[in-house]
Amino acid sequence: MSRVYLTGAGPGDIELLTMKAHRVITEADVIIYDRLANPQLLEMAKDGCEFVYVGKEDGRHTLPQDEINEVIYQNALKHNVVVRLKGGDPFVFGRGGEEGAYLQERGIKFEIIPGITSAVSVPAYAGIPVTHRGVAVSFRVVTGHESPNKETSQIPWENFKTDDTIVFLMGLHNLKKISSKLREIGKPKEYPCAVISRGTTKDQSVVVGTLEDIVQKAKGVPTPALIIVGKVVQLREQLDWFNT
Ligand code: SAH
Repeated sequence: MSRVYLTGAGPGDIELLTMKAHRVITEADVIIYDRLANPQLLEMAKDGCEFVYVGKEDGRHTLPQDEINEVIYQNALKHNVVVRLKGGDPFVFGRGGEEGAYLQERGIKFEIIPGITSAVSVPAYAGIPVTHRGVAVSFRVVTGHESPNKETSQIPWENFKTDDTIVFLMGLHNLKKISSKLREIGKPKEYPCAVISRGTTKDQSVVVGTLEDIVQKAKGVPTPALIIVGKVVQLREQLDWFNT
């Protein structure tokens, strides 16, 4: 009986993998992976394991999700241990829920292996805690994929007036619109934010700025990158440890 493991690969640093993810990678008959999963993880697979790549090099997008669902399903019909490896955590903007539902509808057993999400670990590697006593009592993880000006936007921008930390994933191309939108709802122009690129890897780069100058400062920063907005960004002055 085959089983599909919807598996979080962590944010980039290969050691930020769970022991459970490591086990299923070594047991896999096939690994279906995309751009964000560190390719070094594939070297842990057993001899004869097949690899199926479902990402596109040139953009953020992978194959259409319905095609990926079908690729996973077809592999489950052929193999016993199917690992669907995804960057970070499979349920944090990872579409793991859709993949699980597709398999469930077709009678395929699956397990979820949570991963260390970039939303928390990438700021951590930049010396930025997403919460901090007296600075931020909560944090939100928000899609930056949607243009803030979209009329049908489901993002509750008005709720972002507090000092809670906001982490935008998939938002680099909308950085300008996101920073102006936050100004529009009343955040001051000197409000701290940062863009962190290729976090937790040796190519990590961190740009610290304000809502006013971050667009200028973060020009040309490579993906994947996330945006973090909040007073916690200032703690980096004391907590930056990565290059020390
Ligand atoms: N499931 C993933 C997120 C998928 S959305 C997770 O839990 O981490 C993809 C977005 O994640 C990217 O657009 C980027 O904003 C962010 N991201 C993933 N890995 C990253 C990294 N190493 N450094 C910076 N941002 C990263």
